[in-house]
Amino acid sequence: MSGTYSCDVLVVGAGMAGLMAAHRLGEAGKLVVVVDREERVGGRIVTEHVAGGWADTGAQFFTVRTPEFDRFVAQWLAEELVFVWSTGWSDGSLSSLSSDSYPRYAAREGLTAVPRHLAQNLTIHKAVNIESATPVAGGWLVVSDAGAAYQCQALVLTPPAPLSLALLAAGKLELAAADRESLAAITYAPCITAVCHIEGAINLPEPGVLQRPEHPISWIADNQRKGISPGAQLISLHVNPTYSRLWWLSPDVELAGAVRRELRPFLAETSAIKEIMFHRWPHALPTTLHPHQTLLAANVPPLAFAGDAFAGPRVEGAALSGLAAAEAILTVIG
Ligand SMILES: Cc1cc2nc3c(=O)[nH]c(=O)nc-3n(C[C@H](O)[C@H](O)[C@H](O)COP(=O)(O)OP(=O)(O)OC[C@H]3O[C@@H](n4cnc5c(N)ncnc54)[C@H](O)[C@@H]3O)c2cc1C
Repeated sequence: MSGTYSCDVLVVGAGMAGLMAAHRLGEAGKLVVVVDREERVGGRIVTEHVAGGWADTGAQFFTVRTPEFDRFVAQWLAEELVFVWSTGWSDGSLSSLSSDSYPRYAAREGLTAVPRHLAQNLTIHKAVNIESATPVAGGWLVVSDAGAAYQCQALVLTPPAPLSLALLAAGKLELAAADRESLAAITYAPCITAVCHIEGAINLPEPGVLQRPEHPISWIADNQRKGISPGAQLISLHVNPTYSRLWWLSPDVELAGAVRRELRPFLAETSAIKEIMFHRWPHALPTTLHPHQTLLAANVPPLAFAGDAFAGPRVEGAALSGLAAAEAILTVIG
């Protein structure tokens, strides 16, 4: 996409934080454009079509700990967009589920249905990779690698912090030292994920999930039992952060060997692993968080940072951060 576009607020990133920020800014009557470098919305929430079925390959579920997020989720429940998948997971050591009574929500058509739902009434430019953001008179000039230019009064940046810092550096922006340092302090753990196409019986504990944070393969989930993949048996699998770092540069064929060994105990003897596809997420989960839900940058045109690394991690944290960034921008531009 090329051309020049004007808006009140440009939101970079159509993940949970960016979509929630855009939603709130739109409600306040602002002309908002959201851009994302991917062809789809959702960021780290992604449901993939594999071998005739569907698999959640990024975030698997979300929880609700705040009334603010609960207001959205209650609406999604009423619309039958999401459902309670479980109230806990087995770690494999118990025959029954270990429940802590917190509902874990999933979406009927795969978790990506949630960002797609949020995106419905927003202006979103997909496949736009933002390269730089430069302060200009009256706001910002934001440019993509394909030459699209966005002139806006205010900017919300929701990519992982190192990526947001890089595009500001490319625009020759000097952030205030305190802002730069607090953004540079944010860190993330990587995650290698896999989708495995299985033919034959899968034997995972209720509800078709095993979670073992200390084990190299920390998460194994059956998407058919989750209810999102009637057309194929697909397992989503996560490597824990320590092993994701260790195996990051390993060729897929080596990883596939380890995955095949690890999955065997959960498959019937006659079951076959037909295909394994890997994805590497360099910024999967924040490990050092910013202390506040958003950061409104000092001494520059209106600029707010948001994402799951701001005060609360995961889907809910990203959503609340997006809302906080929108409120911060509205306090400045009215
Ligand atoms: C493997 C995995 C499993 C997870 N499991 C869970 C789970 O079960 N439950 C849970 O609650 N959370 C889970 N999470 C975390 C959850 O997915 C994230 O916390 C949340 O989705 C982050 O949302 P966000 O909007 O902050 O960031 P993102 O979703 O990363 O959105 C940022 C967006 O910015 C875009 N972008 C980046 N750079 C540019 C650029 N230069 N130009 C344009 N666009 C750009 C990206 O394409 C992306 O869409 C998981 C994450 C991973 C990776």
